[in-house]
Amino acid sequence: MKVADNLAAIQANIRQACQNVNRSEQDITLIGVTKYVTIERAKEAVAAGVSHLGENRMEGLLAKKAEIESGATWHFIGSVQSRKVKEVIDHIDFIHSLDRVSLAKEINKRAKENSVINCFVQVNVSGEETKHGLTPSDVLSFVESLSQYEHIRVVGLMTMAPYVDDEQILRNTFGKLRNLRDEIEEKGWAHAPCHYLSMGMSNDYMIAIEEGATHIRIGSELVGPYDE
Ligand SMILES: *Cc1c(COP(=O)(O)O)cnc(C)c1O
Repeated sequence: MKVADNLAAIQANIRQACQNVNRSEQDITLIGVTKYVTIERAKEAVAAGVSHLGENRMEGLLAKKAEIESGATWHFIGSVQSRKVKEVIDHIDFIHSLDRVSLAKEINKRAKENSVINCFVQVNVSGEETKHGLTPSDVLSFVESLSQYEHIRVVGLMTMAPYVDDEQILRNTFGKLRNLRDEIEEKGWAHAPCHYLSMGMSNDYMIAIEEGATHIRIGSELVGPYDE
């Protein structure tokens, strides 16, 4: 499949999901997740009009970024090892996986003077042991505590839903993240505008949009079937 054809189908679905709940398509950012595919395939996505790209490994991100000169916006969506922060911090526009104080400290230490690093705080809404992220009840105090790190801006919350077909489980998961987002937003903390919700992948993005997602992270539906 051409990426352009996949993209057209996804855009139609985004439009539909937005219509279902009276949202504007403008409010949805599609992040093309290119972690499984070649640089060529990632370039095809950019040529088709995907301007936000997501990678979950430093090596993959740096390799692709070096080859793709497009003014693309880069999202780091994988878990970050603290010792790798310094390698990648100047190359990313958003980190979706801030999940611990030690990582916040490291980001703050490595950020350039006067720079602000846009972070999503990752939440493990479903409580699955295999998933990264904060327990929902810890999120508010964690976000509040980040005010001491002048280079960190909390732009939103991120979660990965369980890999299930049960629509109600998915809606509950996404709805809980939205409620947490609302709670933080209402605080009006300067370091944490927290407007965004990064949630929804290939198998559940329409539901995520209906539940308030602003950033959907789509790999297989967009750039698959994988060519490597
Ligand atoms: C791989 C990945 C995605 C994309 O997954 P698909 O199911 O291929 O759309 C989204 N978010 C994260 C954090 C990922 O690691």
